[in-house]
Amino acid sequence: MERLSGKVAVITGGAGGIGKVTAERFLKEGAKVVLVDLFEESLSKAKEELASFGEILTVQADVSKESEVENYVKKAVEHFGKIDVFFNNAGIEGKVAPLVDQKMEDFDQVMSVNVRGTYLGLKYVLPIMTKQGDGSVINTSSVAGLNGSPGVSPYIASKHAVVGITKAAAIEVANANVRVNSIHPSPVNTRMMRSLEEGMNVEEETLAKSIPLGRYGESSDIANLVLFLASDDSTFITGVQYRVDGGMGAL
Ligand code: NAD
Repeated sequence: MERLSGKVAVITGGAGGIGKVTAERFLKEGAKVVLVDLFEESLSKAKEELASFGEILTVQADVSKESEVENYVKKAVEHFGKIDVFFNNAGIEGKVAPLVDQKMEDFDQVMSVNVRGTYLGLKYVLPIMTKQGDGSVINTSSVAGLNGSPGVSPYIASKHAVVGITKAAAIEVANANVRVNSIHPSPVNTRMMRSLEEGMNVEEETLAKSIPLGRYGESSDIANLVLFLASDDSTFITGVQYRVDGGMGAL
C-alpha cells in the first residue's frame, strides 16, 4: 500500500540533495509534491527528473523572504487544495572559520535562511494545517542542532534554533492534530558536504571515520525517516528530535 496516498507535500530545498530524493520517495508513495527552491533552472531540472513518478508543482522562492513564503504556500493550496505534509528543509552551511573569525554578514545569512526561513514556513503553513485539523511538519535540523563541532558556529547556532522552533510549534498546534518534528542527520552525501569538506580541507574518508557506522548517510537514508514522520505511521509522535546519524549520538 502507498504510504502517502492522496496527500499533498511541500518540500523546501526541493531541488537539492536530500529534498529531491525525498520528493521522489514521496511521489512513489502516492503523494503530490510541491518543490520550492531558489532557482528556476534547478527546479525545472528536478521536475524533469521526477516527472515520471507523479504530479509536481514547482515554485521559485527564497525561504528567508516573507512575501515569497506567503506566495509558495498560496500557490501550493491554489494548485492542490491543501497541504498535508511540509518538509521544511532548505538550508545553507555558511563559511568554515573559527567563531572569532566569522563575518557577521555570513552569520546573518545563515540565520536568515536556516532560522527565519524555517520559522516563516511554519508561520504560513500551520494555519492551513490547523484549519484542516491534520498535518505533519518535518523540520530539517542536523546533528549540529544537538551537538557542537568546530568551524561552523553560525550553522550550529541556526540548527539548535530549529529545535526550539520545533518544540514551540509542536505544542502550539497539537490540539489541532498537527504534528511538528525535527530530523538530525550526520554528514550526508550531497553538495553541502562537498562544500564543507573543501572549507575544512578534509576528505570524506577521514570524516566518515568519526561516524560509528563508518560512512556518510545517503539522501535515501534521510528520506526513509522523513517518510515515516510524514505518514500515518507516526500519528502519535510530535515535538521529537530524530537522529539519523550512523550512531554519532551514541559517542
Ligand atoms: P543541498 O545544498 O543539496 O540542498 C539545499 C537546497 O536548499 C538547495 O537546493 C538550495 O538551493 C536550497 N536553498 C538554499 N537556500 C535557499 C533559500 N534561501 N530559499 C530556498 N531554497 C534555498 O544540501 P542538502 O544536504 O540537501 O541540505 C538539505 C538540508 O539538510 C539543509 O537544511 C541542511 O542543513 C540539512 N543537513 C544536511 C546535511 C548534509 O551533510 N548534507 C547534514 C545535516 C543536515
